[in-house]
Amino acid sequence: MTNALSKLLDTNDAILADGATGTNLFNMGLQSGDAPELWNVDAPEKIKALYQGSVDAGSDLFLTNTFGGTSARLKLHDAQNRVGELNRIGAELGREVADKAGRPVVVAGSVGPTGEIMEPVGSLSHSEAVEMFHEQAAALKEGGVDVLWVETISAPEEFRAAAEAFALADMPWCGTMSFDTAGRTMMGVTSADLAQLVETLPNPPIAFGANCGTGASDILRTVLGFGAQGTERPLISKGNAGIPKYVDGHIHYDGTPELMGQYAAMARDAGATIIGGCCGTMPDHLRKMREALDTTSRGERPTLEQITDALGPFTSASDGTGDDAAPERRARRRRRA
Ligand SMILES: [Zn+2]
Repeated sequence: MTNALSKLLDTNDAILADGATGTNLFNMGLQSGDAPELWNVDAPEKIKALYQGSVDAGSDLFLTNTFGGTSARLKLHDAQNRVGELNRIGAELGREVADKAGRPVVVAGSVGPTGEIMEPVGSLSHSEAVEMFHEQAAALKEGGVDVLWVETISAPEEFRAAAEAFALADMPWCGTMSFDTAGRTMMGVTSADLAQLVETLPNPPIAFGANCGTGASDILRTVLGFGAQGTERPLISKGNAGIPKYVDGHIHYDGTPELMGQYAAMARDAGATIIGGCCGTMPDHLRKMREALDTTSRGERPTLEQITDALGPFTSASDGTGDDAAPERRARRRRRA
């Protein structure tokens, strides 16, 4: 393995990823409903400041501002013909920041969901999804990313389509799903399902795991679920800074930097190797996470009780696995199929 991420994983017990993209850009003036990817061209200094914020806080890896960079997502902003340009420039800005960091920093090309529902439940075909992901992947590669990074996925079909596209682009990759529905993804995938799915792929990811979801406690329960499948692959935990709550008409994350520091150390104990934040995670949180990882060493796997004692209660009773845990959506999909 010669890619930059595998090299870092070889020499580090844990590596710190970045935090929120959206929350940071909203603080810089992005309006709700705007496409953040347009800023790669229209406000490149702000995107470089976003990346630099992670690097300065101690991140070993950051994601590019290209989450909504598929043609399906850019179409909502009438920018479906700019996939190549917006992704390539988002990556080039990242390369520029990483290369002057003075230490190895990995640039990961963010690829989010298409926003469309795939066959057989929806109308997006496998080949259309692969084509869209391939177009984005090729542009991120051209812009110089070290790895591709598909995130916040909920459907196994979409995860597989992204994997196939990344093989076409001949790029190493990582992938995470969002377990935001009582321990499962919106489409019913459990931690056990994802751990098994990645091993069925012809080009498995370097690392896989969970991002976003609900709270910091919940994502650690999901990480323990991956580990319970006996996976040898490095695990990713990118949890939100606390639990999202509506306050005065916008979403607020109440997790303190101290809490995220505890979360980071505990995520490593739970078996994660690539640890970062998601929504609400700002540079101040990342600094505490860096400090926690640097000043402690990997400990015993925490129990569920230790997790809730340190980070607060789970938002659902079950982690989604087990017979009594099938949410409604799964049942509906089965009937339809
Ligand atoms: Zn998030």
